[in-house]
Amino acid sequence: MQNKEYLMIPGPTPVPQNVLNAMSHPMFGHRTPRFAEMHKDIISKLQKVLQTRDDIFILTSSGTGGMEAAAANTITPGDKILTLVCGKFGERWSELGRRYGAEVIEENFTWGKPVNTDRVKELLNQHTDIKAVFATLNETSTGVINDIETLGSIISDTPALLVVDAISGAGGIEVKTSDWNIDILVTGSQKAMMMPPGLAVITVSQDAWKVIEKNNSPCYYFDLLKARKSSEKYNTPYTPAISLFVGLNAALDMLLEEGMNNVYTRHKVLRDAVREAANALGLQLMAAAEYASPTITSIYAPSGIGADDIRSTLKQEFGISFAGGQAQLKNKIFRIAHMGYTGKMDIITAISGLEMALSRAGYPVELGLGIQAAEKVFLRGQK
Ligand SMILES: *Cc1c(COP(=O)(O)O)cnc(C)c1O
Repeated sequence: MQNKEYLMIPGPTPVPQNVLNAMSHPMFGHRTPRFAEMHKDIISKLQKVLQTRDDIFILTSSGTGGMEAAAANTITPGDKILTLVCGKFGERWSELGRRYGAEVIEENFTWGKPVNTDRVKELLNQHTDIKAVFATLNETSTGVINDIETLGSIISDTPALLVVDAISGAGGIEVKTSDWNIDILVTGSQKAMMMPPGLAVITVSQDAWKVIEKNNSPCYYFDLLKARKSSEKYNTPYTPAISLFVGLNAALDMLLEEGMNNVYTRHKVLRDAVREAANALGLQLMAAAEYASPTITSIYAPSGIGADDIRSTLKQEFGISFAGGQAQLKNKIFRIAHMGYTGKMDIITAISGLEMALSRAGYPVELGLGIQAAEKVFLRGQK
């Protein structure tokens, strides 16, 4: 028999059976009342999950399409923007900014640490003409969350917009889009939203609209003014991924039924279990507890053992997929995603596999120690 698959990578993530079932339906047209009603319904659910009263657009693209929409609609060539980089995904904002002709001030922070908000304040004081600040809620490459609330309060005292990539966080980590003064928030379907890849979600504040209305970007597919026009009738400018919309509606129902506070607690408990297990096994965690991501944990491989060897044993022998390190972290760390449709027993499976893979690699591991640590977290946590 082929191994049963346990997907523990930061997207795509497992999709619940009832979301898969919902997507298995005869096709229907998108210029119809049926689509419009569903679209309206999804947007009101997204407003709850993302805690915003702003306009929301669902784009047929992966998350990066949403990031491109944010950059293309706000940046006019020559604009000064600030990008906050503490890992691989932060770099994407700089790349997008340069593509769209911005003068990019890229501020780099140590990978494995969050953005230093005092430094951001300094930079905004130094450069009063910054038009937008681009940040990442959850830096997936390292497993660190950034303090978007503080960033938002700093930036709201300036004319700059705050644009946030929340792709690997939204739906698993609380984000108060309106209260935190986020002008544009981007997320994707295949991370914590329990969906297959293929949809991006973008929110747009009134301040952001003022910038977008003045911008004359040549961008066509991702033109948000066109999207706004169509959305008056709960339509989309071009053919949307209809089945994915149906699936998103079902996934949002699941989230709201569980209750967002319970969803956020569940993710934190899973994170704590993974971290305690790693500690018990003598492994080093990349992120300190204060800013450890609730959706993904980066762990250093023991010295002398390649993280990718551990990953390949896990995959081949046990059917478990962990993510590897990116760029300078390649073969140094492995990353365990615990986002979206993930529960306690998924973590037990992952840690058990990890113990065996470490043992295979010659690391002196006392089998069961990591599992015990995870079980203790679950037993002391909420039921
Ligand atoms: C996955 C991810 C992206 C890229 O999303 P795609 O759907 O692959 O385009 C961007 N930013 C972060 C933080 C991510 O985790």
